Amino acid sequence: MREAGVQGTLFVISAPSGAGKTSLVAEMLRQDGRLGVSVSHTTRGMRDGERDGVNYHFVSRDSFESMIAAGDFLEHAEVFGNYYGTSQTWVRETLSQGQDVILEIDWQGAEQVRRLIPECVSIFIVPPSAEILRERLVGRGTDAPEVIERRLSEAEEECRHAVAFDYLVVNDVFATAQEDLLAIVRAQRLRMAQQQVRHGGLLESLSSRP
Ligand code: 5GP
Repeated sequence: MREAGVQGTLFVISAPSGAGKTSLVAEMLRQDGRLGVSVSHTTRGMRDGERDGVNYHFVSRDSFESMIAAGDFLEHAEVFGNYYGTSQTWVRETLSQGQDVILEIDWQGAEQVRRLIPECVSIFIVPPSAEILRERLVGRGTDAPEVIERRLSEAEEECRHAVAFDYLVVNDVFATAQEDLLAIVRAQRLRMAQQQVRHGGLLESLSSRP
């Protein structure tokens, strides 16, 4: 649902890999029809089960670099040796139509977006303990020990930037983390600046007699 006159809110969500961010965001989208998620561009290869245009727009390094030069990205960063970026046009147009937008991006992208759109709401998701994070990263399959070690150090690097975010959600019980995320979205929609646009007439009629 889109609301005329109200500018949508940009929610920036980051997490170390293994925190459950993607599943939590998928559930938020299922539960709240007023949220849209930006599909990023990336130069990394497609994984099993992923679809071009759904999980990411998969592009070559050359195309990505041309897009950077053309100013197509709101933010972009190199993460784990691959480029990732958020389309400027889609995000700005969607917000101006009154729809709330989620960006699932890393801390470097979050930093750029905070600078460009200071009114964005940023949320960091963490697992309940370092042991559980380790179990989740190790338990993914048959990866070599050095791959696991690299993932763990990358997760630590991501977590070092958590305090720059507006909200911290701990994903211990999935349903609780889910409620926390939706509570943040709901509180944002109740902020006076947005409610004044929606209910300006009501406020006026309540504060003056005809
Ligand atoms: P993955 O390759 O596992 O899907 O994502 C790797 C990392 O890249 C995750 O931390 C994810 O949040 C981040 N990422 C995904 N899309 C973007 C994007 O558009 N911009 C930035 N800065 N990071 C992104």
